[in-house]
Amino acid sequence: MQTTGSERARATLSYLRRKITTGEWPVGIRIPIEPELAEQMGVGRSTVREAVRSLANMGMLETLPGRGTFVRSATPTSALLNEFLNAFTLEEILSYRRALEIEAAQQATIHRTDEDLAALEAAAAEEQGCSLCPIATAASSSPGFESKFHLLIFDAAKNRLLASLYAGINEQLRNPQHRGRLANIASASEMEHYHAQLLDAIRRKDFIDAVHAMAAHVDNDVVMVTPDQEVVPTLARSEELQQRIDGLQGELQQPENAE
Ligand SMILES: [Zn+2]
Repeated sequence: MQTTGSERARATLSYLRRKITTGEWPVGIRIPIEPELAEQMGVGRSTVREAVRSLANMGMLETLPGRGTFVRSATPTSALLNEFLNAFTLEEILSYRRALEIEAAQQATIHRTDEDLAALEAAAAEEQGCSLCPIATAASSSPGFESKFHLLIFDAAKNRLLASLYAGINEQLRNPQHRGRLANIASASEMEHYHAQLLDAIRRKDFIDAVHAMAAHVDNDVVMVTPDQEVVPTLARSEELQQRIDGLQGELQQPENAE
């Protein structure tokens, strides 16, 4: 049930959040004290306290006892998302990542600008010969490397929620509990091949080809492995289905011969 009180709470929360996201309260600054904010907004102190607590939970504010409340981040940080994702299995996370990658590829073909395309081309060239795709994989010795190409696809998709969820997923995959359970099975040349296909589809704004290219790519990069290093498919399919998919993939490789 909606009450005036809860509406006031919502309005207070969005008022404070706007102060932070617009930069009126930049990161690092101490925000006005509770009674002051309550007076400014014409609400009770408990309403202000509740809103501050919500923003603290999102990682945007931090209250230090005796020192005040400080702005910590202009956007909700992924700490909350990371904690949320902790509740899911690696299988669930990988198949969700698959969905995100494919959706981003589709949306990128529709929303990409010429600048996005130029950036993607540059990243694809830069990452040639590099098999770390799209995350440094938990097993790798160089964490922190992320495929710029994939991040740019999410950029080109122009959907901040997709991008945030993807960042959260990648962060989750780097968690120590997944170490040794993940492997990147794509060789550098395979990665190049798929990236070239994706780039071609995005260039032609062909989202059907983009879907097939990304699905094939994401099924053959970061995968779960058993303790004996056996690959567990992210999305297990019958042999018949796999043959059909391979057939589609074959057509995709020679788009000029498809007619
Ligand atoms: Zn890739």
